[in-house]
Amino acid sequence: MAHDRGLPEATQHFIDLEERFGAHNYKPLPVVIAKASGAWVTDVEGKRYLDCLGAYSAVNQGHCHPRIVAALVEQAQRVTLTSRAFRNDQLPLFEQQLCGLLGFERMLPMNSGAEAVETAIKMARRWGYEKRGIADGQAEIIVCHNNFHGRTTTIVSFSSDPLYRDGFGPFTPGFVSVPFGDLDALAAAITPRTCAFLVEPIQAEAGVLMPPDGYLAAAAQLCRDRGVLLLADEIQTGLGRTGYLLACEHERVRPDVAILGKALSGGVYPVSAVLSSSAVMSVFHPGSHGSTFGGNPLACAVARAALQVLVDEALPARAEALSGPLLSRLRAIRSPYIRAVRGRGLLIGIELDRLARPFCEALATRGVLCKETHDMVLRIAPPLVVSADDLEWAASQFAEVLAG
Ligand SMILES: *Cc1c(COP(=O)(O)O)cnc(C)c1O
Repeated sequence: MAHDRGLPEATQHFIDLEERFGAHNYKPLPVVIAKASGAWVTDVEGKRYLDCLGAYSAVNQGHCHPRIVAALVEQAQRVTLTSRAFRNDQLPLFEQQLCGLLGFERMLPMNSGAEAVETAIKMARRWGYEKRGIADGQAEIIVCHNNFHGRTTTIVSFSSDPLYRDGFGPFTPGFVSVPFGDLDALAAAITPRTCAFLVEPIQAEAGVLMPPDGYLAAAAQLCRDRGVLLLADEIQTGLGRTGYLLACEHERVRPDVAILGKALSGGVYPVSAVLSSSAVMSVFHPGSHGSTFGGNPLACAVARAALQVLVDEALPARAEALSGPLLSRLRAIRSPYIRAVRGRGLLIGIELDRLARPFCEALATRGVLCKETHDMVLRIAPPLVVSADDLEWAASQFAEVLAG
């Protein structure tokens, strides 16, 4: 963005500070955001941008949603943290609301998405030992090539991306990887030691990769037949993003375990959760798992409001309604660079034949923020409150930038 002419002074100042004092584990676009509302953000220069990333689908409800912010402020003035050594009056209500909304018997609250994935892994392993009689220390979990489940040491142990793994070993054993979307490979990988299959309904980070139609339903059936738990990582695909509260619903699949994060708090506060049945959740006993901040009253109050906004504003249906027109608009773009346009709801990927980064930079100058994923894919995942007109305008910016 305007590299040749240099960046505006305030923007440059903040970038310099961060380059000087921060770890360089991200390579952000040179836009310094100072405030946001709905689908729009404003930088320190006062320039406005349509947010087409939506904080990796954490702000499905829109930036600074007034009801969620009000819940945060109100709860912050009462009590923020009790630890789980004592009970608080928000967690029970959050548990009831989330289980009721998604149709699960029990839930376990954590903070980050990766922690929720770790929780699901521990739960599945212990279930394998206690309920399936797998020999101690032998349980295996099947994962998919190109998965993204977070950044902890165990999770990067089963990543297929050298960028996430290199230099971080030794790795946690007990994971077997199969090609995403390949049912035969999954069937062949299941052994008596397999306790679970961990999968994203759509591989968002990998480039919005969609499995063949019917894959999830068939995988769910296979897991049921072979006594393997299906763990759906819905951290990015869940909570309305693809048109349903869970992307698994597209194939009428009810996973044994659903993992949520990101939009669970509307991007206001880190809240994640694992949902499952009483039978599976019963492997946890007091002391066997926990987190100081997990289930804290501030998080629970925020998440309750975030869930209520999803329901009251019918945001899953909104994602579904906005999807078709946007996809056709993008598919109609005449561009020498576009290889494919795919997606579901408002999780859309434009796969290019070259690096997507320069296009992101060009879009930013035009007031559209989006970020490449896996080098060659432009991901479009705006807050679900975005207007049809704003999306239409964004699509015309994509069309002009990609025209060649
Ligand atoms: C973002 C993400 C995670 C990790 O969540 P964090 O909050 O960053 O730890 C895990 N799985 C998927 C599918 C994600 O998109």
